[in-house]
Amino acid sequence: MNALGQRIARLIEAQGPISIAQFMTIALHDPQNGYYATRDPFGHQGDFITAPEISQMFGELLGLWIAQCWHDQRKPEARLVELGPGRGTLMRDALRVIQQLMPEFLTKVEVVLVEASPTLTAIQKDTLAKSGANIRWTEQFDDALSDKPLFLLANEFFDALPIRQFVKTERGWCERMVVANGDALDFALAPDATSSSIIPANRDSAPMGAFYETSSAATALTQQIAEAIARKGGASLIVDYGYGAEAGFGETLQAVAAQKYASVLEAPGDADLSAHVDFAALAQTAREAGATPYGPVRQGDLLEAIGIVQRAATLARGRLGANPQIDSQLERLILPDQMGTLFKALAIMPADVPTPPGF
Ligand code: SAH
Repeated sequence: MNALGQRIARLIEAQGPISIAQFMTIALHDPQNGYYATRDPFGHQGDFITAPEISQMFGELLGLWIAQCWHDQRKPEARLVELGPGRGTLMRDALRVIQQLMPEFLTKVEVVLVEASPTLTAIQKDTLAKSGANIRWTEQFDDALSDKPLFLLANEFFDALPIRQFVKTERGWCERMVVANGDALDFALAPDATSSSIIPANRDSAPMGAFYETSSAATALTQQIAEAIARKGGASLIVDYGYGAEAGFGETLQAVAAQKYASVLEAPGDADLSAHVDFAALAQTAREAGATPYGPVRQGDLLEAIGIVQRAATLARGRLGANPQIDSQLERLILPDQMGTLFKALAIMPADVPTPPGF
């Protein structure tokens, strides 16, 4: 067991089993040994590759999407927030096209990057040094970002938010906890059933052994975003891997290191942890907060609808000869057996504006 695992085992000995959400928070964000706190996990040598790292086309098209929504709402003084910007690549590509097409955007919109990791913040500052935009950083989304129209992008952010898991048993829905046996960590079900209010009614018919996963962090954040958009205007585009209409009965918590699946509990802080995003739950939360959700649509469908095939052709023409690299980037982003179907996009809009592009 690594040093962080041993610390977690001591914590559990002292205070009892911890929830999976608590475990995820420590494993991802512990200031000394947490996964995001200590490293740059992206890119071709890294643990995993995200869409903006695959191709500049991804950030460019999301930038266009934002610019179009801003234009549709009569170009207000506004904020553009990105949650969890990774290496800053998406924002760099987005700002480059926005600057070409709608330079006034950069004079009327303040860019705010929400990033918990000091290591990644430093990389983002470097990536965006020549963007020409007015950018500031903050460690978490808060209501201070809600006093102007809110334009927001989040790619592979919600999957990193902590989840709790519940398993259906003869005794009712029991929370799955992390326990310690000496230095080893293990999963165990809480002996008592959870109060029923956490489990939605549509889970009543689930079979024995079924899982229910929920993220209060994701719900609370979506509510804040949707309330701000309903009140002040703006547009939010959340892209991630996850369930569409209905969550399944399996569990989706996963660990990835060096582009392979790893053990969730064996080496906390050394592997990325993530879980499927429950888009239906986020859409419902947005609606209850007074905003209008669109989607989720498949990532492949969104990108095709907003012009990725044409963009790929233009990029290929700009280079000499055939361009297998751009073709393979395009395929990775949109084909159903690659990222095209598993990844989905949800838009959150004010009630009284045009349907956003691609939905
Ligand atoms: N959007 C980027 C990175 C995705 S990884 C891309 O597509 O490449 C998740 C990002 O969210 C990382 O930058 C991570 O440090 C950040 N992050 C994760 N949890 C966070 C939290 N609770 N608060 C702020 N940032 C967080």
